[in-house]
Amino acid sequence: MNYTQILHGAGLTDAVLTAGSLSVRTPIDGSELARLQVDVATDVEAQIAAAAEAFLCWRQVPAPRRGELVRLLGLRLRASKEALGRLVTLECGKIYQEGLGEVQEMIDICDLAVGLSRQLHGLTIVSERPGHSMRESWHPMGPCAVITAFNFPVAPWAWNAALALVCGNPVLWKPSEKAPLSALATKVIFEQAVADFGEAPEHLLQVVIGEREAGTVLVESEAVPIISATGSTAMGRAIGPRIAQRFGRSILELGGNNAMIVAPSADLEMALRAIVFAAVGTAGQRCTSLRRLFVHDSIYDSLLPRLKKAYADLPVGDPLQEDILVGPLIDYQALDTMQQALHTAKEQGGHITGGERLYADNCAAACYVQPAIVEMPTHTAIIQQETFAPILYVLRYQDLDQAIALQNDVSQGLSSAIFSTDIRETEYFLSACGSDCGIANVNIGPSGAEIGGAFGGEKATGGGRESGSDAWKGYMRRQTNTINYSRDLPLAQGIEFTIEDA
Ligand code: NAD
Repeated sequence: MNYTQILHGAGLTDAVLTAGSLSVRTPIDGSELARLQVDVATDVEAQIAAAAEAFLCWRQVPAPRRGELVRLLGLRLRASKEALGRLVTLECGKIYQEGLGEVQEMIDICDLAVGLSRQLHGLTIVSERPGHSMRESWHPMGPCAVITAFNFPVAPWAWNAALALVCGNPVLWKPSEKAPLSALATKVIFEQAVADFGEAPEHLLQVVIGEREAGTVLVESEAVPIISATGSTAMGRAIGPRIAQRFGRSILELGGNNAMIVAPSADLEMALRAIVFAAVGTAGQRCTSLRRLFVHDSIYDSLLPRLKKAYADLPVGDPLQEDILVGPLIDYQALDTMQQALHTAKEQGGHITGGERLYADNCAAACYVQPAIVEMPTHTAIIQQETFAPILYVLRYQDLDQAIALQNDVSQGLSSAIFSTDIRETEYFLSACGSDCGIANVNIGPSGAEIGGAFGGEKATGGGRESGSDAWKGYMRRQTNTINYSRDLPLAQGIEFTIEDA
């Protein structure tokens, strides 16, 4: 299938693909896929106004009916899984299996949200006053902006949008300027679901095309009460204070610097497979990619040679081809950052295996690399940065407390894992004295989360939670109600306040 067939197969027309000036390229060979029309500030403001109008209607639709729209979206996504998955691969370079996996996540969150649409319930609370009752109600908030990163161009949108929609909020989606086509194709699928539904207000989902300036209009608008933003910690640092300034609600999903500890009792066969998938999947461009590996001294010399052998055999190349496991980096900037990090790691005492650029002669416009293993003597400054590329830093450890302390000694707090068959170690790792991350796993790698749990991380990862568990509360406002069904007016805390003539 050629690129045009993939684009058309995902519902994108030539009119959309040639409408403007934003050049979108595939990292597979660097060729241009589209020139999209960019939304300037006045366009974004008009979209916000349209979302506010849609909200007035959507908030009155009973939540289980709103869930029906999301159920229909899930059905349409099932029908479009291959077409959208292939477009995700074309646009951001992850292998086709991972492209399919991303669409499956969208389907899974739709299923979860449909169930939730009948469970958006609050508490009933006992009152201290006779003839009174109390309860908690959850209400829609208004337009929800979803800003997404290039590396997961559709799933994080769905984690947010499926919940926001059943919670009664229209969605404004600003995809990465490096991966906007998957968003436009998803919008086509969404409109099919809206047509199946039959009675939704217009503008429930709008896509804002542009770079950070377009995002800024959403971030600064008081008509957008929720901003859910996925991307780098630098982006979160820029927008977090601006949202706080206007008392908006932010859900921030930012950078990670994820680690795994391999303990003496680990099943090394399983650990090896988990390490390789977590470190090189999506070419090391997952927020949850494994970046730091702490291996116990007693097993280091048996694990490392096997890991290096597995790396040497990795098929790197066109991610649309079935036998490929590692696709390209997104662009030259990513390649530069990787090469600089390797250079610095070497200066800081690292011993590097791999990391070189591949196919530069016959595919000069694309950035393929051999994933790198860097054995480090200590936890130096370069390791503490998130370099969004397939670099795995490996360190020896002697004692678990030392490994946990190093794991936690970074500004980010997204994902972590331990491989051990010793329950004392694994439970300690999950305890208050263990991992400080939002995600802590046992005997699986740090990447590849399921939909049922709340997804997100602490510290410089932003603290946001999306997807499963009670993440839906982030898209609603909580109201506490006190109801007096007596013929008296007692005040709380027994306060006496009597006025004449009453
Ligand atoms: P990025 O921060 O460059 O861009 C992300 C999005 O934010 C894009 O849509 C971009 O246009 C927008 N943006 C950037 N600066 C902005 C600003 N000042 N105002 C408004 N919008 C702005 O990130 P990226 O390179 O696309 O993605 C890689 C980063 O995202 C990595 O750090 C990765 O760890 C992180 N990420 C985190 C998660 C998570 O769930 N925690 C998931 C995926 C990616």
